[in-house]
Amino acid sequence: MKKSRLFKIIIAFFLAILLPVLSVTIFEVIQQDKKEALLESIYERQLDTILFAVNQNCWDNFNSWVTELSSQFSKEKNALTQPQKIKSKLKNFVRSYSPIHSGFIRTGLSTYTTYIQGGKDQIPDAALDESSLKEIEGVIMEDRIAILKMADRARQGYVNPHVLRWPQEGDTQTTLLLFPLVNIENAKTIPTLAGIFIDDLTFIREIVGRKFNSMQESSFIFGVRDVATAKIIYTTEEVNSDIFERSEAMWIIPSLQLEIKLAGTTLEEFSQSQTQSNFLVLTIINFILLVSIFYIIRYVYLEMLLAQKEKDFVANVSHELRTPLALIRMFAELMEMGRVRSEEKKQHYYRTIMAESTRLTQLINNILDFSKIESKRKTYNLKPSNIRLIVNDIMDFYQYHIQQKGFKINSSLELNLPLVQLDSEAVRQAVVNLIDNAIKYSNGNKSIHITLKRMNGTVVLSVQDFGLGIPVKEQKKIFKKFYRVENSLIHTTKGSGLGLTLVKNIMVQHKGQITVKSKVGEGSTFSLVFPVMDKNGEIDGSNSDR
Ligand code: ADP
Repeated sequence: MKKSRLFKIIIAFFLAILLPVLSVTIFEVIQQDKKEALLESIYERQLDTILFAVNQNCWDNFNSWVTELSSQFSKEKNALTQPQKIKSKLKNFVRSYSPIHSGFIRTGLSTYTTYIQGGKDQIPDAALDESSLKEIEGVIMEDRIAILKMADRARQGYVNPHVLRWPQEGDTQTTLLLFPLVNIENAKTIPTLAGIFIDDLTFIREIVGRKFNSMQESSFIFGVRDVATAKIIYTTEEVNSDIFERSEAMWIIPSLQLEIKLAGTTLEEFSQSQTQSNFLVLTIINFILLVSIFYIIRYVYLEMLLAQKEKDFVANVSHELRTPLALIRMFAELMEMGRVRSEEKKQHYYRTIMAESTRLTQLINNILDFSKIESKRKTYNLKPSNIRLIVNDIMDFYQYHIQQKGFKINSSLELNLPLVQLDSEAVRQAVVNLIDNAIKYSNGNKSIHITLKRMNGTVVLSVQDFGLGIPVKEQKKIFKKFYRVENSLIHTTKGSGLGLTLVKNIMVQHKGQITVKSKVGEGSTFSLVFPVMDKNGEIDGSNSDR
């Protein structure tokens, strides 16, 4: 078979399938770090977007409070001049929102109206005490410029509270949010201010926490950190470490920081595992591809080998047919010309014609049987038979032909063998093929032994030669169709590579087997092993042997 053709097929596979997939794999490997970084930045952005949404929500909440309180006073014209009204409106407002711990309103007349939400140590509806009021006034004066700026922005439509961290009492952290309640045109005067004290933790739980939970992002954990102490003061789930992936200062309470991380893993690990699983899939695809290409090439190779063997077969068979035909024709012509006078010679010519035409028949039978076997049309007619008679018959018939070639056959055929279920024609064909091979591969050693014996419930028929022998690694292959061992005789000895295939098939049909024992340079023994079907079918020497 032309190796170059197989090579071309391999190259074609490589270029068409393997090369593109390998390139993608190599590209993936090179790009892995970049991809991980890209994936990480995409996830970071996604986390930032979530934090942004939560922050925005807190801001919106505050704005709704501002609108709510402002509208209370804008509805009634002189409400801000009536302390009782201020007090009751403020009371209603603070009561409506649990994060608002207390509130006050500072009008232009410097009057304060205060209200305290009922807390642990606090009396509901009580007013802030004098010292607290003084403290508030002190802070307002201190931050006067910032408060004026805030009022200025409010006039332009941006309500941005002035935020103050209130000195801590106990566990709870309080933040004061100051914002203008009514805008006055005079930019130099502090406007009417509303102040609301926010209980940080309640605010986080009720506003931030609720928003986090409403997003139903179970793969994330949210947290809030106190910037001053750098401690996490709130998380949506229990965490082992207080290191979060992304953080953003809370707009409304800048002393707090919103944080987020992936549950159970880090962004780096997550993006790494994503790219690694991509890589794994690619590796598996490559592997499957390699295995399938290997099998396709192997299949193509075997098909090409078979095609080549079929070609050789045609050449060999034509040669095998031509040789006996030429001999038959030559002897027939000699006889026809009447030139052969001696009776002995005539007999010799007749026998040669007979033997050669038998060989021809055998060859043609082999081919026909093979084609029948291939198309599963071959049938065998098995009946209890005396195998010894068949062997004797074959030896009688071929004796002359064998002797002509200078061969000597020794036989040792056991008596009293049991009957064997067999198709006598098929067994004859098998034995003739074995003898034929023993002659062809004799390598000058012209002795053949045929033995027939009973062994472990079987009848074994062996044909032994002392010729070329068969290497061990070839001994299984010789039974494959068209297979011929590559040795010194392959070119000079013609053959179809079908003989042993047929013998094997015949033996399978007889539920028996063919075995070979061979040593290179010492010869080969092929044995046909027939099972004894009927234990009571033993025959005695008188009617079974001759
Ligand atoms: P062929 O027509 O080539 O003889 P077979 O199927 O009968 O085909 O045999 C297959 C191959 O097995 C042969 O080509 C030969 O190489 C090897 N072989 C068969 N019988 C013998 C033997 N008795 N001694 C050595 N080699 C043998």
